[in-house]
Amino acid sequence: MRVIEQIYIDGKFVEPHGHELFDLHNPATGEVIGQVRLGDAEDVNAAVAAAKRALPAMARRSKAERLKMLEALHAAMRAHVDELREAVLEEYGAPISRSSWMADYAAGSFLSAAQTLAEYPLEREIGSARVVMEPVGVVGLITPWNSNAGFICNKLAYAIAAGCTAVIKPSEMSAMQTEVVQRALHEAGLPAGVYNVVNGRGADVGAAITAHPDVAKISFTGSTAVGKAIVRASADSLKRVTLELGGKSPTIILDDADFDAVIPGVIEAGFMNSGQACVAGTRVLVSERRRAEFEARLKSAIEARVKVGDPRDPATTVGPMVSQTQWERVQRYIRLGREEGARLLTGGEGRPEGLGGYFVRPTVFADVNNDMRIAREEIFGPVLAILTYRDEDDAVVIANDTSYGLSAYVFGDQARAERIAARLDSGRVVINGAAHEPLAPFGGTKQSGLGRENGTFGLEAYLEPKTLLGASAA
Ligand code: NAD
Repeated sequence: MRVIEQIYIDGKFVEPHGHELFDLHNPATGEVIGQVRLGDAEDVNAAVAAAKRALPAMARRSKAERLKMLEALHAAMRAHVDELREAVLEEYGAPISRSSWMADYAAGSFLSAAQTLAEYPLEREIGSARVVMEPVGVVGLITPWNSNAGFICNKLAYAIAAGCTAVIKPSEMSAMQTEVVQRALHEAGLPAGVYNVVNGRGADVGAAITAHPDVAKISFTGSTAVGKAIVRASADSLKRVTLELGGKSPTIILDDADFDAVIPGVIEAGFMNSGQACVAGTRVLVSERRRAEFEARLKSAIEARVKVGDPRDPATTVGPMVSQTQWERVQRYIRLGREEGARLLTGGEGRPEGLGGYFVRPTVFADVNNDMRIAREEIFGPVLAILTYRDEDDAVVIANDTSYGLSAYVFGDQARAERIAARLDSGRVVINGAAHEPLAPFGGTKQSGLGRENGTFGLEAYLEPKTLLGASAA
């Protein structure tokens, strides 16, 4: 059994001060496959001190030097994508197509940040002033388990592009991925202290970073409850905060849609990342006129095409839940759906036949109304709720009647879909299954978060404008 003993502080792999050993599981079997030694608040103090020492030199680095760093980080990560994919498969259980995408995304995020920085004016004239965009300072980067390596790399990439230094607190449940990333990034040869990695629990290490007076900004991806705790805890030092939180995203199917053409996209939007995706389209809105036809087709498509099982089998589309806790959470919501009076269209409680581990049955509820908890709360598993609407206006009202606003999906006639998209309260609307754009802003409205990541908007979240008056013209 593997024991991951080292964290990364001041350019060196070191043993944490903390002693607790935390079990790592293979979610496809439930077996313990390793342990990670967790850090504590003392480790955070050492990491923040290293990041603070490295900051003045990092902040002075030119755009060209930062671009070189991003290229080196990209090359280092690229050289380890196979290893990273294996860690994701073993420790998280995402189906192999998703695991491969996740590993590529982690490496690719350094290129996206480099492209953004290359095109971004770090200085500009505004009237008689010269405005210089300066790094915000030492940043705390906190990631969730559902895409740990990707979020580490993406957040770090934009922090470095801005000239910040960083303390990273990965998900404690993703230590194998973190270990690969840590080793890969070290090969990029960045100056000591520019980034530091401290494994640990949220309540210890995460909270210590959030409260630390020398940390200027937190970029957090995770649950809405923890996001709110971070805002409260960072108020004393008035930290800048970027939060990417949960969602309960609507998928609107227009009444003219060709169901055969759109159902694969509806399933993909709902069950991506085995349903453990903040952007999953889990509230499926269909016209009441075509409800019966849609339900029948969705049920048969899921039963015929969605394959739950071994993440290494290329035919698998839904892997296990990450943990026993997450498995139980999904089971609770499936039970709740029945208790609330929704009709089970497919799936249900328990494991799919022949599977152990943390596998759940892809589940769809019909006859759901938007007041039910299964329509309002994020389940974070492959569980969809079908709701019906009378007309376009009704569809928009139901879609927007949620405390979240991270993503939305519209399928059907292009012009009508664009018209609906314009009326949705959502950080992002995906029309007819369009692909992800890494340079476009990513984040949510309402309780889905604060601020945006990626591209120019993401870069600016790590920068502070400084106005120079009376400076000679450039
Ligand atoms: P979580 O909020 O429990 O944990 C996220 C991270 O925060 C972990 O590293 C955890 O250790 C840390 N943390 C926990 N308590 C903390 C505290 N008090 N202070 C500081 N850090 C703390 O979330 P999770 O269970 O790891 O991930 C699932 C959640 O994340 C879901 O709700 C999902 O919607 C959300 N999510 C959002 C996005 C997005 O981009 N919007 C992406 C992925 C996941």
